[in-house]
This record gives sequence, structure tokens and C-alpha cells, in this order.
Amino acid sequence: MPLSSVAANAGEQEIPYYQSVGNECTMFEQAFQQRLPMLLKGPTGCGKTRFVSHMAAKLGKPLFTVSCHDDLTAADLTGRYLLQGGETRWVDGPLTRAVREGGICYLDEVVEARKDVSVVLHPLTDDRRLLPLERTGELLEAPDDFMLVVSYNPGYQHILKSLKPSTRQRFVAMSFDFPPPAVEREIVARESGLAAERCAALVNLAASLRAMKGQDLEEGVSTRLLVYCATLIRAGMPILDAARATLVEPLSDDADVQEGLMEAIQATF
Ligand code: ADP
Repeated sequence: MPLSSVAANAGEQEIPYYQSVGNECTMFEQAFQQRLPMLLKGPTGCGKTRFVSHMAAKLGKPLFTVSCHDDLTAADLTGRYLLQGGETRWVDGPLTRAVREGGICYLDEVVEARKDVSVVLHPLTDDRRLLPLERTGELLEAPDDFMLVVSYNPGYQHILKSLKPSTRQRFVAMSFDFPPPAVEREIVARESGLAAERCAALVNLAASLRAMKGQDLEEGVSTRLLVYCATLIRAGMPILDAARATLVEPLSDDADVQEGLMEAIQATF
């Protein structure tokens, strides 16, 4: 059985379930061994975060995850002086901790972060693997078991928020997408506990809802939302109510679009 589909204990650490779709696990392991940073691209809710936590556990490394947002600055990653008990003390940020202690630092939606973040990432993502901490005067060299992983959703991208070539060309990059139907059915069944045959109908429905993307919808329904839907159905919610709450309302506020989605759902169930 491929390791990637095993939810087992690695020592103390439970390995989060991740169903691999291609060679992404091997690629990640190789990048880790070769000390290369990795960029994951793909729509929201398609398994990027789960993949990273799975790989970190499989490699037995601590994971430092940061969800980036438009106020996130380099200091939020590296650290800052804080007043503690009348004293000013330097407190490492998650990136600095990962560099000092070893481990995987995952910056989710990195394009959202402020521009000064790339200044910190550049020396870390070339062969120097250095993290300069101007405020403390330190120059940290990343240990062999440090890895930087970043993700972004090309679908949300607009001119002001895309990764500059000088940044993206520092990463080994992989594209993620919604899994093929047979795999997605297995994931939804496993995550929700709903019978596989019933999940198959949801996955088929997702295909027709995803086909509506672009017309009026910014994003297609995610695997995450399918898991939510299956979870509510398994808990006893009527199918149409569950579908409306998970596959319609989160996707659009527009009454016409919602109606179109509901029609597709009613045609299936
Ligand atoms: P992303 O980081 O791409 O936004 P997540 O990793 O948070 O998405 O995935 C959302 C949910 O979808 C997960 O919590 C999990 O339930 C499910 N999921 C998606 N893809 C997979 C997969 N390949 N294996 C296992 N679970 C998956």
C-alpha cells in the first residue's frame, strides 16, 4: 500500500489522512531531501493544506503553518521584541522557529502577505538558505531539515496580488486541482463517513456545478464543501437542505446563480 494513503502512527504523531493523486508525495520528499523550497498552486479546498500536514507527519518534522493575510508583515514571520513582565524580550516568529529548530514552514496564500515578506524569503530560498534577523543582528543558517512551502490560488490572482517571477522562480512548483471522481469519492466517504455510493452522487453533482464556473461563479465547489455536505447528510439533514447550505450558499450571493445551482442539484436528487 502506498505510504501516502496510510493514516497511521509515526511514533507519537498521527499521520493525517491524505489521498495522493499523482507523484506529489515523492516529489515533496525529494524536495525535502534536496533542501529545495516548494510552491503549491491550486483552488481553495482541494487538499493543499492536508497534503502538507500529511507530509510533515510522514517525515516526522514539526509543521509551522501561517495563513497569510494582507496585514501580514515580515516581522510576523521572523519575530519581534515584546514587553514581557517589564522586560523587552525577543520572541521568534513561526518562520524563525522553523529555521532554528528545523521543520516545515508552510505559508498558506502567500500572495496575500505584504511585499516585505519576499525580502525575507529570498535569501532563504536560494542556496544560501539564510534568514537575516536585522533586529537581533543574527544571521541564521537553515538546517538540513528546514523546508519552506508556500501556496497560492491562481484563481484569485489579480495584477496587484501575484507572485513576482523573481520570487516564484525560487521554488519547485506543483499544481493541485480537485481529485479525479473515483479519488474524490473515496476522500469524501472517508472524511464524512457517508457510504461511498451516496458520495459518488455528490461527486457527480460537483462535476456539473464546477462546469458552471466562470459563467457567474468565481470558484467551483471544493472538495472541502463536498465533505461538509456529506457530513450533514450523514448526520441526518435532508439532502436538499444540506446541499443548499454547503454547495450553494457558500458559493454565491446572487439569487439567479443560486437558483441555477439549486436546479442542478434538484436534477440529481
Ligand atoms: P486547501 O489547503 O487546498 O484549501 P485543504 O487541504 O484544507 O484545502 O482541504 C480541504 C478538505 O478537503 C480537507 O480537510 C479534507 O477533508 C479534504 N481533502 C481534499 N483533498 C484531499 C486529499 N487528497 N486527501 C484527503 N483529504 C482531502
